[in-house]
Amino acid sequence: MTAAELAPAYDKRQDLLAALAAILSPESLLSQREQTAPFECDGLAAFRQPPLAVALPETEDQVRRVLQACHDLGVPLVARGAGTGLSGGAMPCADGIVLSLSKLTRILQIDPQACIARVEPGVRNLAVSEAAAQFGLYYAPDPSSQIACSIGGNVAENSGGVHCLKYGLTVHNVLGVRGYTIDGKPIAFGGAALDGPGLDLLALTIGSEGLLLVVTEVTLKLVPRPKLARVVMASFDDVVKAGNAVAAIIAAGIIPAGLEMMDRKATNAVEPFVKAGYDLTAEAILLAESDGTPDEVADEIAQLEQVVKAAGATQCVVSQSEAERLRFWSGRKNAFPAAGRVSPDYYCMDGTIPRKHLGKVLGAIEEMEKKYSLRCMNVFHAGDGNLHPLILFDANQPGEWERADRFGADILELCVGLGGTITGEHGVGIEKINSMCVQFAPEEREAFFGVKRAFDAGGLLNPGKAIPTLARCAEYGKMHVHRGQLPFADIPRF
Ligand SMILES: Cc1cc2nc3c(=O)[nH]c(=O)nc-3n(C[C@H](O)[C@H](O)[C@H](O)COP(=O)(O)OP(=O)(O)OC[C@H]3O[C@@H](n4cnc5c(N)ncnc54)[C@H](O)[C@@H]3O)c2cc1C
Repeated sequence: MTAAELAPAYDKRQDLLAALAAILSPESLLSQREQTAPFECDGLAAFRQPPLAVALPETEDQVRRVLQACHDLGVPLVARGAGTGLSGGAMPCADGIVLSLSKLTRILQIDPQACIARVEPGVRNLAVSEAAAQFGLYYAPDPSSQIACSIGGNVAENSGGVHCLKYGLTVHNVLGVRGYTIDGKPIAFGGAALDGPGLDLLALTIGSEGLLLVVTEVTLKLVPRPKLARVVMASFDDVVKAGNAVAAIIAAGIIPAGLEMMDRKATNAVEPFVKAGYDLTAEAILLAESDGTPDEVADEIAQLEQVVKAAGATQCVVSQSEAERLRFWSGRKNAFPAAGRVSPDYYCMDGTIPRKHLGKVLGAIEEMEKKYSLRCMNVFHAGDGNLHPLILFDANQPGEWERADRFGADILELCVGLGGTITGEHGVGIEKINSMCVQFAPEEREAFFGVKRAFDAGGLLNPGKAIPTLARCAEYGKMHVHRGQLPFADIPRF
């Protein structure tokens, strides 16, 4: 039976609270409306839902027992890390509980010989690098939210960041995952070694958005801190030229340690409070980092300067100290909060396109700004082709959120149309569930459901997220676009 089928018959709140009270200390079980309110949404605050209760286990065994209790009572459960997700993945179900992993914050082991760290899921991303620093090591995936987001959330979302172009996403930096299925059974994939016996299901769990298991321990790969890192900041008088410069860098065989782009609206929003030193007259800036030994960095920086100048850069500044490098990045890392300075609300999109289309997409977004009468700031993990348009709106103005929502859906469909994807790193959650109908055929979505059923036959873990049902797609009325080819392209669309 699915969670949805169980829901109408579910009137067991008291039984549930009694079962949870037998497992958790009183301060680890929140059930009053004012206590659960902070858990109603994640970073996508437009979608909210109060849960029946919030469980904050302090031990792995309590996690197991909470899962078992929910399973036995047929209660849906949504795992939560730090709640910084931007796709509504940790938004609760009305008839279910939130299982917060925020008290499981132990770094269990750092092995400098093997270059690994074993951590609990509530450990903050940045805390891993801080703990590994004494051994000259760090954890490469660095979401801009790394000061707050948890490793459990990173695993569930397959998070990326500035350094992922060179060092890979979460999936390339996680060696092992341990956790529990909804019925409280332990499950473990991968390990400290590079390969292991059995089917390789590790990658399946990474990016599974809390639908398959609750992660309680993660083994992470650590990499040596480079001896030196420097950033080239290049200005362009045209966003399309900046987009083309990105493609030119990669085509020249350079894989920078980070390759990010911000348009003028983004630099002008961020500069007044971060004072990163950005060129505010430029239509777009590129930040390209080189890391390695001093000789390697010198060579690569020279190559980068040559390529961006040939691509039309009007100005090129190279960081002269570690403090200046960090200052250049701090502007980029604060771009999302900066949107909050210039607009009451913003909606952060996350799509991916082949890099060569960056210029084309920017042009199309400009047209959409006119169509929806809304402004949009653009920030990109440009090297990965990962777009983060930030649509600015005011939720208090009637109709603005609906326009922002449609604007966002148009951007995602454009990404699919150009051979890209509807998510680069923020996951599908509830936000992009309709867009999944555009990206995947019914047979592909059924294969996803098959995997879901193999782990969670009752559909109790994070129901209604990430994979749309056939009925939902029929209601949304969208067709599958395969490799950018819309079926029956000559039929007019409405
Ligand atoms: C300002 C800002 C900047 C950001 N920048 C980036 C960026 O550069 N790159 C990027 O990738 N993301 C970015 N994000 C998005 C977000 O920070 C990431 O998706 C992050 O990985 C979420 O981690 P979290 O701990 O907050 O997870 P949550 O939001 O709490 O949860 C996210 C999902 O993970 C599931 N989950 C959480 N913990 C577990 C667990 N232990 N077991 C199973 N499932 C679990 C939840 O059910 C949910 O589906 C940004 C967000 C903000 C607000």
